[in-house]
Amino acid sequence: MSPPTPDEAWARLREGNRRWASDTAIHPHQDRARRAEAARKQEPYAVVVSCIDSRVAPELVFDTGVGDLLSVRSAAQTIDPLVSGAIEYGPAELGTPLIVVLGHQRCGAVAAAAHALHEQTTLPGHLQDIVEALRPAYRRAHGNVDKMIRINTADVVSKLKSDKLLAARIARKQLKIVGGYYSLDTGQVTRVV
Ligand SMILES: [Zn+2]
Repeated sequence: MSPPTPDEAWARLREGNRRWASDTAIHPHQDRARRAEAARKQEPYAVVVSCIDSRVAPELVFDTGVGDLLSVRSAAQTIDPLVSGAIEYGPAELGTPLIVVLGHQRCGAVAAAAHALHEQTTLPGHLQDIVEALRPAYRRAHGNVDKMIRINTADVVSKLKSDKLLAARIARKQLKIVGGYYSLDTGQVTRVV
């Protein structure tokens, strides 16, 4: 079977999210047969870069199963070189046609960063690294946390689009990168960029 195009992959995720949000999830690809099939070879059709938040598990919100998604998760879906390498793996090594950067409503990491930047306090340990990663979005959001979530998501999409390895695949139409926003209230993913 040939891999889906970027648009076909996005359509699959949208359809899965529609099922999830309307309480008609079918939990595909979660049986013994699929496990056996995927044990030999994986052909995930999307990389989802999302927050660590316990309420935003990509396999659930897109109603997918084993072998469907590569999940890359970090606080407020911030990226650094190690995370970027993990994101590159799908497109570069497995021919994955789609990357979705998924921000979400009431992101605690974004809210905490906004608070720390507003109060000019320094968070302990590596938490401050997350704050620094979100500083550019904070500056442009003018104190509005929901706006900051969307700006940060769009920023991560932009950064990935300028990633040398990924940009080459985008130019050849083998890859698309989209940004989404997940509503905790409705379960729906809407497009940000
Ligand atoms: Zn979050």
